[in-house]
Amino acid sequence: MSTAFLGLGNMGGPMAANLVKAGEEVTGYDPSPEARAAASAAGVSVVDNAVAAVAGAGVVITMLPSGGHVLELYRELVPAAGPGTLFLDCSTIEVADARAAAGLATGHGHLALDAPVSGGVVGAGAATLTFMAGGPAEAFAAAEPHLKHMGAKLVHCGETGAGQAAKICNNLILGVSMIAVSEAFALGRGLGLTDQALFDVASTASGQCWALTTNCPVPGPVPASPANRDYRGGFASGLMLKDLRLAQAAAQAEGVRTALGDHAERLYTEFVEQDGPGRDFSAIITGITG
Ligand code: NAD
Repeated sequence: MSTAFLGLGNMGGPMAANLVKAGEEVTGYDPSPEARAAASAAGVSVVDNAVAAVAGAGVVITMLPSGGHVLELYRELVPAAGPGTLFLDCSTIEVADARAAAGLATGHGHLALDAPVSGGVVGAGAATLTFMAGGPAEAFAAAEPHLKHMGAKLVHCGETGAGQAAKICNNLILGVSMIAVSEAFALGRGLGLTDQALFDVASTASGQCWALTTNCPVPGPVPASPANRDYRGGFASGLMLKDLRLAQAAAQAEGVRTALGDHAERLYTEFVEQDGPGRDFSAIITGITG
């Protein structure tokens, strides 16, 4: 049976290409002509509407911008898919939307799994993504062979919605820690420390974290970090803001007090208003150091 792939953008395009490389027969659709052309060049059989993509598919993978997109497409595709199809959503969306989408699929007798990713466009291209999955064991087992073609690490986090829950909790840590690292560099400079001296200490001391050692917001100490190329490429500030908003919406719904998450969301909102959504989220340091 074929694999249907809907949403062939920055992430979905290379993910679908990796399924093709692994020998899967992939049928795909995206409303963007550029995305369709790139997918076609990578060996995806591109069709001209989403329903046509799911004909004869055993698994339907979605990689879309928002929960609204996922729900709208599921309403169209779920009744059109063959019995017992696996619906695998890899988009980052609200936990409540993930549960609603899975409910639509399982209500028609299909299997459903939320499996958002970490690793960005580089991980999507290199098939080294981390997948965090939520749904029944049967759905995870059915998804595993496909996920292995696109990622290096798979974690079954729990029941439906648990993958999205893990994703937004992780990115809450990331957003807050990037701001803390940026403030530390700003203060260090004010106190006369060089960036390298602070990095050499904090990267091997208790301030150590991914935002410092891999995605360092100042140029120099970590040559591969986006700070060395004017914050181009990497994980866009607009996507970080989206994830912080999802985390805050979930915290409010669950009655959990996330004071730093709330503050981080406000700082990223201000930053995206001034700088735009496109540069790497570590560029927030430019709004702190001036
Ligand atoms: P993108 O905008 O590049 O791709 C989304 C694609 O979905 C677009 O090509 C769009 O045309 C397509 N689309 C919209 N409606 C559609 C429909 N009805 N049918 C088929 N295709 C449709 O976004 P992206 O960067 O690939 O991100 C996709 C998802 O992955 C988002 O939820 C994002 O939060 C998440 N994510 C992105 C990154 C990253 O670094 N870019 C990292 C982790 C997670």
